[in-house]
Amino acid sequence: MGMTTTDVLIIGGGPAGYTCALSAQNSYPHKKITLVREDDPAVIPCGIPYILATLDTVDDNILGDQQLIDKQIDIIIDTVTDIDGQTAITAQGKKIRYHKLVLATGSHPVMPSLQGAHLPGVYVIKKNLAFLHQFKKDVDQAHKIAIIGGGFIGFELADELLKLGKEVVIIEKAGHCLCAAFDDEFCKIAEDEMVRLGAQIITDTTVTAIQGDKRVSSIVLADNTTLDVDMVIISIGWKPNVSLAQKMGLQLGDSGAIQVDEYMVAARPNIFAIGDCAEKKDFISRNPLMLMLASTAMAEGRLIGSNLFGLKVIKEFKGTLGTFCTCFGKLSLGQSGLTERAAQRYGFDYVVGTAQVPDRHPGKIGDASMIHIKLLFSRYSHILLGGQVAGGKSTGEITNILSILIQKGYKDMEIDTLQIGTHPLLTPSPISYPIISATVDAILGTHKDGLGSDIH
Ligand SMILES: Cc1cc2nc3c(=O)[nH]c(=O)nc-3n(C[C@H](O)[C@H](O)[C@H](O)COP(=O)(O)OP(=O)(O)OC[C@H]3O[C@@H](n4cnc5c(N)ncnc54)[C@H](O)[C@@H]3O)c2cc1C
Repeated sequence: MGMTTTDVLIIGGGPAGYTCALSAQNSYPHKKITLVREDDPAVIPCGIPYILATLDTVDDNILGDQQLIDKQIDIIIDTVTDIDGQTAITAQGKKIRYHKLVLATGSHPVMPSLQGAHLPGVYVIKKNLAFLHQFKKDVDQAHKIAIIGGGFIGFELADELLKLGKEVVIIEKAGHCLCAAFDDEFCKIAEDEMVRLGAQIITDTTVTAIQGDKRVSSIVLADNTTLDVDMVIISIGWKPNVSLAQKMGLQLGDSGAIQVDEYMVAARPNIFAIGDCAEKKDFISRNPLMLMLASTAMAEGRLIGSNLFGLKVIKEFKGTLGTFCTCFGKLSLGQSGLTERAAQRYGFDYVVGTAQVPDRHPGKIGDASMIHIKLLFSRYSHILLGGQVAGGKSTGEITNILSILIQKGYKDMEIDTLQIGTHPLLTPSPISYPIISATVDAILGTHKDGLGSDIH
């Protein structure tokens, strides 16, 4: 096969690679941009749970190449197997010579070494269309499904399965589901909603074996309890896909992802890494962070796309906030920055403020829902360190406001005097805007130090 050349080679067409390609084209319209990815067509990873019940068909979750095509970005469907100097070599024998290389190879689901994990009817979630068709077909036939792992993906899948009338049991190793992202009182709200929707939740235990003959028929828990199920979904985490990076001799960080500097440079001057395969640093503590979010991947993609041939965007990525939100049943939850659990782990001295207010005013307006919010401020620096929100759909954008306030280092008194717009049908009341009310609570020191309050 012949050699092709390109100015920018992006390996990976997930949220990171896709966004990077568009940003690179916007910033350097005269450069040739090439994107190689394995999957055709690519799927929207965050939409995967919704192929089960909310979307009409699995194909409604296809990412679509039109934006790339419109920008004349070359798309190659292939697997890059090796890098030789400045040349990528693919499984189909193509050679692509590049000037700048961006690794956006993403992540793979963690498969535990568990007896029976490879039985038919046992799944980890893959970001692949053919897999999703097969997965959905199997879900449609199943009656009782165990989800191993009570993180946000496990909860979103459970919500969809319950909408289909399936029996769902969630097994979580920790004391609470969602505890990587939320403090206990928020985890409890989430668990209560999931139970209200019909799921069974078993915490503080592990699955020790998956049993079955031709197909999964039961799981065994640590206390030897056996639960009959006819399908198992394992959702216990994701690991960075670094096989190519390792072949290239790139340095991996403590988290196992590719080590990068503030500008996502993996090796000077021409190799970058972004998205799930690249190491993150916690925004506040600066510790290495294993965090995989499409929103983070896209922010990195936009930054690198702009900076490939010169530092156009002087943006020190101080670290990753891990801002995210999720939604199941009638509940939405969002989080940004430090939880109390993380603040205590890192040794931060903090104060807490909380508030419970409706997100419309008056609160009797039809679509109002109660917002529970908890903020953490540095006790002496007064900087906002983190926030958690639970409530209705407005939770998503309230979380995004928190994310901006944390990124910009807002202090309690600055938030107290923020200029905001309000309207009865659209927002909480100006006299009890959730972020401001919780901030005032923290300033007044109404809460016991470091304990937060019970928000039930
Ligand atoms: C079910 C589910 C729900 C989620 N929901 C959310 C959500 O609501 N919000 C959120 O922010 N995040 C969510 N996430 C996380 C989010 O999907 C990931 O953080 C995101 O996909 C990371 O993007 P990425 O581009 O770094 O990697 P990936 O999406 O993993 O893409 C990797 C790309 O690399 C390609 N590739 C890998 N190796 C090679 C190779 N050698 N040669 C060529 N191509 C290669 C693959 O084909 C793929 O195109 C969810 C994830 C899942 C699984």
